[in-house]
Amino acid sequence: MIATDPSETKAPASENRAVLRFAPSPNGYLHRGHAYSALLNAEFARRLHGRLLLRIEDIDPQRSLPRYCSALEEDLAWLGLTFEQPVRRQSEHFADYRESFARLHDLGVVYRCFCSRGEIGAAVKRMSAGGITSPLDPDGTPVYPGTCRTLKKSDIENRLAEGKPFQWRLDHQKAMKQTGPVSWSRFDIETGRTTAIPVQLDRWGDVVLVRKDIPTTYHLSVVVDDSIQGITHIVRGQDLEAATDIHATLQNLLLLKPPLYIHHPLLRDGSGEKLSKSRLSRSLRDERSEGLTLARLKRELGFSESRE
Ligand code: GLU
Repeated sequence: MIATDPSETKAPASENRAVLRFAPSPNGYLHRGHAYSALLNAEFARRLHGRLLLRIEDIDPQRSLPRYCSALEEDLAWLGLTFEQPVRRQSEHFADYRESFARLHDLGVVYRCFCSRGEIGAAVKRMSAGGITSPLDPDGTPVYPGTCRTLKKSDIENRLAEGKPFQWRLDHQKAMKQTGPVSWSRFDIETGRTTAIPVQLDRWGDVVLVRKDIPTTYHLSVVVDDSIQGITHIVRGQDLEAATDIHATLQNLLLLKPPLYIHHPLLRDGSGEKLSKSRLSRSLRDERSEGLTLARLKRELGFSESRE
């Protein structure tokens, strides 16, 4: 069968329209990598005759700052991108994350973890002193050794009585038992074909779903919001591809319709490092003040006039 180029198909009825989103976190100024992702989302939305939404991922009260929020809106306007209003801000939707978490709790696939970062580090060190190397997750963090997974009820009650803070982790083994094998769908925009990618949840171990200070984490909110906003195609950087294991598992547990995924390559700087806010890669604002024009940026990012 010859696959049709989605860009040549007629616009579908509105209820079947593709919905894409650009979902920046306002914890720093946007750089070229964000510009690339946002422009790619806009291009794919156009080719799929879909809608493009903006979502502000500002769950982290310490790191999300209003000045980054207004800066990113300015940057996106400069890129020529406009979005439907109102824009969804995650910090205004904690109730939605609580509700989904309650469903996971009812399924019995989460547990309280009282460990501090230091305690986890010490447990990992003890293991390696005993000859057990703790595996690293795809982000390079040691997989949680599972200290609190088997806490007795009385231990939990004592810690709660002491007022010890806790987070909630997904028990990945119970989750996998519940879901059976899960896969997510990689979408190829050129051919319109999808490929099933098997989830490997065990490489992540028991990830945190609810932090000590806020009733959610990136993984939980992203899955809940993509569903609430009816996102059909997720276009984001390759650095998040492995995390799709977690997202697909949560979608399966919460009975949410899974979107299709495109993970695009990351832009690198001259030394081959990926651009990142934490490494203070040059921001779009700085580049703009040094004379960068939109036409030049688009050309350099590979968006030719004909692709606009
Ligand atoms: N907020 C995330 C970021 O800025 C993107 C999340 C996503 O696209 O799933 O890296």
